Amino acid sequence: MATMMRTKPTRIVVIGSGAVGATTAYTLLLRDRANEIVLIDANREKAHGDALDMSHGAPFIGGVKVFAGTYEDCAAADIVIITAGAAQRPGESRQDLVKRNIVIMRDIISGVLRYNPDPILLVATNPVDVLTYAAWKLSGLSHRRVIGSGTVLDSARFRYLIGEKAGVTPRSVHGYVIGEHGDSELPAWSKTNIVGTPIVLTSEEKEEVFSATRNAAYQIIQAKGSTSYAIALSLDRICASILNDESAILNVSSYIEEYHGIHDVYLGFPTILTREGVRDIIDLQLDEQEFEALHRSATYLKDRIAELQL
Ligand code: NAD
Repeated sequence: MATMMRTKPTRIVVIGSGAVGATTAYTLLLRDRANEIVLIDANREKAHGDALDMSHGAPFIGGVKVFAGTYEDCAAADIVIITAGAAQRPGESRQDLVKRNIVIMRDIISGVLRYNPDPILLVATNPVDVLTYAAWKLSGLSHRRVIGSGTVLDSARFRYLIGEKAGVTPRSVHGYVIGEHGDSELPAWSKTNIVGTPIVLTSEEKEEVFSATRNAAYQIIQAKGSTSYAIALSLDRICASILNDESAILNVSSYIEEYHGIHDVYLGFPTILTREGVRDIIDLQLDEQEFEALHRSATYLKDRIAELQL
């Protein structure tokens, strides 16, 4: 397949070359998403090893350059993806882990901004909504240029499971998981359909689909230690909609300035993405129950954010 000619090289920097970061870089490479993919990790050897390993596939792919870099390489970045994070220590509380990840985020943001004053930041590190809010606050960037992976992955899992039940491809299932990427997230069943046809599932089947969605990460982590492939595809999809100026609507974690009483929080919500980042969020018409659940999710996140005293 011929590589598309681009006038200026497109560069995506991936910070954190762990399970998520390395798999994301590989996915971006396979998808020919950018001309240059840069890996930055506190463990430089790891980033270097991953970059070399991927580069050796060049004869089979061509075109794309993958290398381990430094913050200086963020200067020419179109998108900076942040997947770096500390792993939970034995006995460490979730809150202490978040605090350590905030310190890491602070370092990363200052490193990136030193060389690129106006990047698009795409955060995947968990807890993603809280850390995306922190990245926005710490960077001083417009909220339109700071997004998180949000519930893009959760929505993909949801669509996959509905597709399995209905015997149709998940690509034809429209389904939205919104709110926190975590336990307080909710499915917008009132907006879920297959080519416009409402989905006929009993309430038990709905509960089964949603609890499988919400517990998917726990299930995979128990089986293999981490999740990486579907989050990598989710991040690639987000990059595509930005780089191709698609105005695609994805459930990224975006800043809610004001949505029916919810404000000043980041959460997963249908968001229009363009080359400039976030154009707008969709005024999703939820039913009363869904709306209350979204409020609870937003309140939970706002409480977590307030604890950080950013
Ligand atoms: P990992 O431990 O495999 O990788 C983390 C990497 O970050 C390591 O290579 C580490 O060296 C690096 N790192 C740590 N501090 C750094 C710093 N200051 N600068 C640069 N690099 C640094 O973890 P993982 O499995 O790749 O997961 C990464 C994050 O992504 C976690 O927070 C995880 O919970 C999250 N995650 C999010 C989603 C989602 O849907 N948003 C899905 C899966 C995983």
